[in-house]
Amino acid sequence: MSAHRARISAVRERLREQGLGALVVTQTANVRYLTGYVGSNGTAVVGLEGAVLLTDSRYALSAREQVEAAEVLIGSRDLLGDIATAAVARAGEGPIAIEADAVTVDWHERFCSRIDGHPVRPVTGLVQELRLIKDTDEIGTMRRAAAVADRALARVVGRGLVGRSERAVAFEIYRAVLEEGGEDLSFPTIVAAGPRGARPHAIPGDEPIPPDTLVVIDMGAIVDGYCSDMTRTYATGPLPERLREIYTLCHDAQRAALAATRPGIACADLDAVARDAIEAGGYGGHFGHGLGHGGGLEIHEAPGGRPGDRRVLAAGMAITIEPGIYLEGVAGVRIEDLVIVTEDGCEMISTSPKDLTVVD
Ligand code: ZN
Ligand code: ZN
Repeated sequence: MSAHRARISAVRERLREQGLGALVVTQTANVRYLTGYVGSNGTAVVGLEGAVLLTDSRYALSAREQVEAAEVLIGSRDLLGDIATAAVARAGEGPIAIEADAVTVDWHERFCSRIDGHPVRPVTGLVQELRLIKDTDEIGTMRRAAAVADRALARVVGRGLVGRSERAVAFEIYRAVLEEGGEDLSFPTIVAAGPRGARPHAIPGDEPIPPDTLVVIDMGAIVDGYCSDMTRTYATGPLPERLREIYTLCHDAQRAALAATRPGIACADLDAVARDAIEAGGYGGHFGHGLGHGGGLEIHEAPGGRPGDRRVLAAGMAITIEPGIYLEGVAGVRIEDLVIVTEDGCEMISTSPKDLTVVD
């Protein structure tokens, strides 16, 4: 059975368990995961009695090429009427489930007005739960995306950083990702030097990168729809003692969290491994964000990995381990790897070096 057929069967299984007749899948990554369709206007309807991918004429040729596990129907640009008809036809007597976290209030109202009183039930995360555990092919694709990012970053950093603007470096990373075989960036690259590095989600600026400080570069490549995500922090010359200290501490915290990553540990407990290390090193309160997040067809997906997230890791999950230490007005450091949880630990899919490297 093809991966898409198996995934659609798994959805059907959930529909039966939950007493649902059909699921209308509107979230782009979920549609791609279940059917292989890639495009801006596609909705899948998986019913107990058949599955269909609806799109408009702009995507007719590509949809017929991409989708083998569901019937392809070409509707009007506003697919809503076609989706409603397809859902009612495939739901039998059961309620039609819609993705509560993906549709708008307006969509919901218009959809309900087209299905002749058929019961509707909002659901959350039904397909996302299936996406949590990556199969061998998905893991292989994610390894390729990580390798593209490794090569792109090495190329750009190899040309030096000092005196170039953050924005110029970010642009070169974009170019290098495409040249190395990526189809796009996973997200806009972060290049943040000196005090700007203390903002975890800084936007690259025009000022030249100064010497003798830290530069945070957070980037990722997409290959076949799958995102990689990696952060490295470089020194642009000899560092003040305090910056060397936070680099070493962040690196040690990441190493400890990586060593603790395995099936059975709760995300919150993994977060605490890194957080406790940073606190013990005297920088508690300077690590504001969570330890990481899941990754795959989306750059942020389940599991969450935030403090308090009790979800337990299992083999096949893909998560980032990204502790950071941020000193307002001074600099920041973050070291991030996307890893695949294995039977007895985790596999790091990026290989860019992490020992403190001076790039001037
Ligand atoms: Zn990142
Ligand atoms: Zn990340």
